[in-house]
Amino acid sequence: MKQYLIIGNGAAGLSAAEAIRQRDPQGRITIITNEPHLFYSRPGIAYLVLGEVSEKQLISRQASFYRENRLELLHAHVVELNLAQQTISLENGKRLAYDVLLLATGSTAVPASFPGGDLQGVLTFDTLNDAREVIKRGRKAKTAVVVGGGITALELAEGLRHQGAKTHLLQRGRRIWSRLFDEMESAIIEEQIRHEKIEIHYHENITEVVGKRGKVASVKLESGASLKCQVVGVAIGVRPNVGLVNGLPVNQDQGILVNPYLQSNVPTLFAAGDVAQVYDRWTQAYHLDILWPSAISEGRAAGHNMVEIANGRSPNLSYQKGTPFNAALLFGVHVTIMGRMGQQVDAGENVSHLSRGSSHVWTAPFTTRTQSAWDKKGPHSVRLVVANGRIVGALLMGNQALADPLRDLIEQEIDISEYEADLFRENGRLPEIILEIYQTKQSGE
Ligand SMILES: Cc1cc2nc3c(=O)[nH]c(=O)nc-3n(C[C@H](O)[C@H](O)[C@H](O)COP(=O)(O)OP(=O)(O)OC[C@H]3O[C@@H](n4cnc5c(N)ncnc54)[C@H](O)[C@@H]3O)c2cc1C
Repeated sequence: MKQYLIIGNGAAGLSAAEAIRQRDPQGRITIITNEPHLFYSRPGIAYLVLGEVSEKQLISRQASFYRENRLELLHAHVVELNLAQQTISLENGKRLAYDVLLLATGSTAVPASFPGGDLQGVLTFDTLNDAREVIKRGRKAKTAVVVGGGITALELAEGLRHQGAKTHLLQRGRRIWSRLFDEMESAIIEEQIRHEKIEIHYHENITEVVGKRGKVASVKLESGASLKCQVVGVAIGVRPNVGLVNGLPVNQDQGILVNPYLQSNVPTLFAAGDVAQVYDRWTQAYHLDILWPSAISEGRAAGHNMVEIANGRSPNLSYQKGTPFNAALLFGVHVTIMGRMGQQVDAGENVSHLSRGSSHVWTAPFTTRTQSAWDKKGPHSVRLVVANGRIVGALLMGNQALADPLRDLIEQEIDISEYEADLFRENGRLPEIILEIYQTKQSGE
């Protein structure tokens, strides 16, 4: 009987376990997690703090699921890998052997680097337990300060505001999420943020969190100002959890480098999800995706190939990285981002870390000339990025009717050159033209 070990009970780890069980009914599958929960939707914690879903709704796999699929779930912290002996060590000293190992350890928020970052009330937003803290502390706090430029900072600010705390949002750049949004898109979200009565401070950052009896009491800001507060939310990006392979002969860059089979340079070691750096066919480079659907697809492919390796065969299911896609709800506005946006980054934006719900592919620089078409109707907007007669990226705000057609046109690399002149005409017909291209393509004309 083969022993499959999976470190991580998130989207990648669980999808891999399911794929293994489908292909190997006998094998022993052990999933290890250092969180005290069953499988839950990690992106869903942003909705939990808004009161839109309950904890019960987030936990989408019950104990019976693990039992029925004979998945052994171990709540423990893995501290060491021994690649030569094919064992892992747990914090409690126990060792477990494996035939094939999957690292699906996810990523963790970059911790606050300013003094006072370890005070009680300084929060990050990675886990269900973090969400519980946001709710608990947000309810008690009179004032909260959130720092960060990406999607998690916005979600954290919205979550704290929802608990009743007066909330300040600090942005290093001169507008909202300038790493991805253009001026007009930032302005749309900014209006919504102000509507929620969250105070935005541009070109601002925390230099120190000042504490009283071990708890947050105020923050000192770069401008010299200071704000009294009881909670500080830090969302300045995430780092893949690669610590377990540090010092081992495993190829890594920002994440663990894997081949199209999700296999590392060590044949019995696979990686999937946030921790894996995967080849991207559009940019022809290895990138991180901190995205839920990517974690699921990678996990499935990894699980399939782990069975091959365990049985002495070659891996044979290659993972084709799809168009990185995210649909989020920011301050009541539906936002969908897909493909390559190649957005210019404002001076002052921290570009070294990726925020949750993001992909490196979105902001990877282009080598070819691109053009952007933009259309806005009331609170709805759509922006396309076109290169070499193909739509390569799109960002939708508000109305989402074009999300699936655009995803398909990007994914299939459909030649739209005959429509290009029309798309850029700025006569408000852009949505219609996209639908026309999509329908023509579907009917096979
Ligand atoms: C607030 C928030 C909002 C998000 N929004 C979106 C979104 O809108 N769209 C989107 O696509 N994605 C979003 N994401 C990102 C998405 O959740 C992740 O990309 C996805 O969960 C990654 O799955 P994973 O399986 O790679 O890792 P994770 O889900 O992070 O799971 C990692 C697992 O590894 C375990 N682990 C790690 N180290 C050890 C160790 N040493 N020992 C034992 N266990 C260990 C952990 O316990 C955990 O079970 C969001 C994430 C957050 C937190």
